[in-house]
Amino acid sequence: MTSVLDRPAAQFGSAANLVCRECGTTYDLGPSHVCEMCFGPLEIGYDADLQALVTRESIEAGPQTMWRYHGLLPVAPLVDLHVGMTRLVPAPHLAKVLGMRALWVKDDSGNPTHSFKDRVVSVAASAARALGFEVLSCASTGNLANAVAAAAANSGLKSVVFIPNDLEAGKVVTTAVYGGTLVAVEGSYDDVNRLCAEVAGELPWAFVNVNVRPFYAEGSKTVGYEIAEQLGWRLPEQVVIPIASGSLLTKVDKAWRELGKLGLVDPTSYQVFGAQSAGCSPVSSAFRAGHDVVQPVRPTGIAKSLNIGNPADGPYALDVVRRTGGAIDDVQDGEIIEGIQLLAETTGIFAETAGGVTVATLRKLLASGALDPEAETVILNTGDGLKTLDAVEAVARPTATIRPSLDAFREAGLGL
Ligand SMILES: *Cc1c(COP(=O)(O)O)cnc(C)c1O
Ligand SMILES: [Zn+2]
Repeated sequence: MTSVLDRPAAQFGSAANLVCRECGTTYDLGPSHVCEMCFGPLEIGYDADLQALVTRESIEAGPQTMWRYHGLLPVAPLVDLHVGMTRLVPAPHLAKVLGMRALWVKDDSGNPTHSFKDRVVSVAASAARALGFEVLSCASTGNLANAVAAAAANSGLKSVVFIPNDLEAGKVVTTAVYGGTLVAVEGSYDDVNRLCAEVAGELPWAFVNVNVRPFYAEGSKTVGYEIAEQLGWRLPEQVVIPIASGSLLTKVDKAWRELGKLGLVDPTSYQVFGAQSAGCSPVSSAFRAGHDVVQPVRPTGIAKSLNIGNPADGPYALDVVRRTGGAIDDVQDGEIIEGIQLLAETTGIFAETAGGVTVATLRKLLASGALDPEAETVILNTGDGLKTLDAVEAVARPTATIRPSLDAFREAGLGL
C-alpha cells in the first residue's frame, strides 16, 4: 500500500493533521482513528489559512453537490456520486399544526442512495482512494451499507459490508444489488461493529467507520453548510437532529462554528436538539440524568437506522447540546409512526423511521417547552420511507376498496 507521504498534499484538501479530541496530540494524516497516548478519538485538524481561502463566491461557483464545500473538507472529490445540495423545504402546514412560526425540513432522502450517509461515504471513499486502499468496508445499521456499496461500485473500489442479520428487507436488497460482498452477522449493530474493529486489525481495508472514521465524520458538516447557504448565508435559531452514533449532530455544530469563524455567516447563536427512539436512548437518558458518560444499552424498536447502543460520539453530542442550550428527548414506536404520517400529510415528504423519530421528538420538545415555537427551526429528515415500509404498512392502507362501478363509488361515500 502506498504511504500517505507519497501522495500529493492537494488530495487532502485543507486538512492539516489528525488531532486527539481528548488530549490534543496531533498525528500525520492517515488511516487511524485512536490516539496512541490516551485512546481518545481522532478528528481532522485544518489549516486555517487554507480554509480561509474559501469565500461565498467560490462556493457558489462550485457544483450543485456537497463537493462545492471541498475547500472546507479533508480530501479532494475523488469519489463523486452527485451527493448533497438536497432540498431545504419550507414546512408551513406542519408548522401550523405544531403552533410554530417558521419551520424547514432539510430532506436528505434526496441523495443517490436515499439517506444522508452518501455524504459521509463520499468523503470516506475519497480518503480511501487518496490513501491507496482497494477495499471499502463498514459496519452498518442499513443506510451506510447502501451508501458504501454504491460508492464502491461507482469508483472501482471493492466493497465488503457487514450488517446485523435482522435488518429491513428494503435495506438488504438495496445494498446487495450493487454487487459487493455483503455479510449478515448474527448479532446487534454493536456486535457487528466490534467484529469490524477486529477485522480492521487484520486486513488492509478502509473501514469507513473505523480507521478512516475521522475523514468519514467530516462529511456530515456539509448538511450544516448547505442549511446555512440555503437560508441565504445565515444560521437558523434551532435545529433538531436524530442521533445514532451522535456524529451528525456534532458535525452540524462544527460546520456552523467554522462558517462563523470564517466570516461566511454572522456567528449568531443557535440551539441544537437531539432525537432518539425510546428503544435506543442512551444519549437522551444521559442528558436527562445530567451525566457526561453514556451508559450503553441493548437497542430495540423500529428505528433501526438509529439503533446504536454504544454511541461513539455520545459524550460529544451531549457537550454540543448543553453548550448551545438545547435538549435531547426520545419517543416511542407509536409516536414514531405518527411522526412519519404527520410529516407525510403536511409536507409530502415520506421519511424513514429516523425522520419519524425527529418529527415526534420535535413535537415532544415543543410540548415540554424545551423548544421555542417562535424561533426559526430546521429539522433533518435523514432517510427515505421507501426503505422502511414495514413500519407504516398497517396504517397506510387504501381508504376504500370498491368494485369498478359508479354505484360502488357512490356507496363508498367518498364524494369529498
Ligand atoms: C446514520 C443515520 C443517522 C445518524 O447518524 P450518526 O451520525 O451516527 O448519529 C440518522 N439518520 C439516519 C437515517 C441514519 O442512517
Ligand atoms: Zn489523546
